[in-house]
Amino acid sequence: MTGRVHIIGGGLAGLSAAVEVAGSGRHVIVHEAGPVCGGRARSYEDRKLGCRIDNGNHLLLTANQSVFRYLGLIGALDTMTGPNRPVFPFVDLAEGGRWTLDLSAGRIPFWVLSPRRRVPGMRLGELVSLKRLMEAGPDQVVSDCLLPGPFARRLLDPFSIAALNTPSDEASAALLGHVIRESLAKGGRACLPQFPKTGLSESLVDPALAHLSVLKCEVRTGRRVASIETSGGRVSRLCFPDETIDVDERDTVILAVTAPVAASLLQQAIPDFRAPDAFESILNAHFRLEKRPRALGSFGEARFMGVIGATTEWIFLRGDVVSVTVSAANRYAEQDPDQLLACIWEEVRRALDTMLDAPLPGEPAAQRLVWEKRATFAATPEQLRRRPGARTPLANLALAGDWTATGLPATIDGAVQSGVEAVRTLGLR
Ligand SMILES: Cc1cc2nc3c(=O)[nH]c(=O)nc-3n(C[C@H](O)[C@H](O)[C@H](O)COP(=O)(O)OP(=O)(O)OC[C@H]3O[C@@H](n4cnc5c(N)ncnc54)[C@H](O)[C@@H]3O)c2cc1C
Repeated sequence: MTGRVHIIGGGLAGLSAAVEVAGSGRHVIVHEAGPVCGGRARSYEDRKLGCRIDNGNHLLLTANQSVFRYLGLIGALDTMTGPNRPVFPFVDLAEGGRWTLDLSAGRIPFWVLSPRRRVPGMRLGELVSLKRLMEAGPDQVVSDCLLPGPFARRLLDPFSIAALNTPSDEASAALLGHVIRESLAKGGRACLPQFPKTGLSESLVDPALAHLSVLKCEVRTGRRVASIETSGGRVSRLCFPDETIDVDERDTVILAVTAPVAASLLQQAIPDFRAPDAFESILNAHFRLEKRPRALGSFGEARFMGVIGATTEWIFLRGDVVSVTVSAANRYAEQDPDQLLACIWEEVRRALDTMLDAPLPGEPAAQRLVWEKRATFAATPEQLRRRPGARTPLANLALAGDWTATGLPATIDGAVQSGVEAVRTLGLR
């Protein structure tokens, strides 16, 4: 087998494609614009906090099969951790109350019958929202399908915002329905929360790079593709600011960049090319503490907590760093970052009040707000229609990225799956 495989973009979609082709006898070259690989899922040394953090907290579920297959291929399954049971602690800061959603392991949802395991105050009739979501049509939004009540307010709405990174009155109900079919409807075994033991790069990026290096694949960083030339219905050249690479007839190209970059690189080659063009941000607030606290109860078991009725949505504890995630964060774009940090810290103190071995101080030792402005495309019905498949009109070019038509939201699982799909589309495996 001959021919080079050029993979443009060293995010998880590009790395997944590279891992998929590696070892096939083809020469794989990853061209990554940034100084490191990982894209939107990476770890870095934060000077303000004085420690290494992830750009954003990433939560996976055992249902994310493509990710766990990828972790298996790169030998990194043991870098992940999480509670042994599908437990999700919550606190409601507006209406009061703490509870732990405690799913049953199998498909039969015994948990809904137990007031200690389900969402407090929910009526069993509210479960009809799940059915409505799973049967939703392509134009419906999540809020169309939610029966008002505690089950929607305390579980489905926050779950939707976290999974789709889009407000529920805009987010595609059919997409959330698919996520529910693949997770909650399969039972607790598919819903075990998982996250990296050390960091995103240590789990998802560094082991992949080590694996690729052993298999003699090249990963070139600091290499931004500036344009793509075509001839005879194929990609014929990749142009970098300081170099041009010829793509011969045996070579293939996988474009695994973000949607706006793909649209710009392909605008001449594929004039009617469409990709998502509306985005949502995610903000993460990281607070470093003087000393590592001990988490108690179900927060100690899960190491994260959902927060209802507040700006804060999810709190994670990693050693001496407390991190907060707020999804669909375009709504906070006008807010003063310092005020936002102060508000979130106050909420964290209230939320963790009884969940740590000692109270949190009035001020953290150090803090940092990280805005990922274009964290994901907005998962609206309209934007979903703009997602292209892996195949393109150019015979030797396939697309990958969380924004392609994976059927999944813009997630790590979607990104990894898209890389595999691009490889299959080009017949490389
Ligand atoms: C804050 C935050 C929190 C998130 N939380 C979760 C979560 O909890 N669970 C979950 O599953 N997902 C989560 N996600 C989504 C997940 O991170 C993404 O879906 C995934 O990382 C996307 O991977 P990708 O490879 O498709 O894109 P990217 O990671 O964007 O990779 C594209 C790569 O292409 C490179 N590139 C761009 N232009 C060029 C060029 N011209 N030439 C060469 N290279 C180029 C970029 O530098 C980048 O490395 C979160 C995302 C963010 C930002």
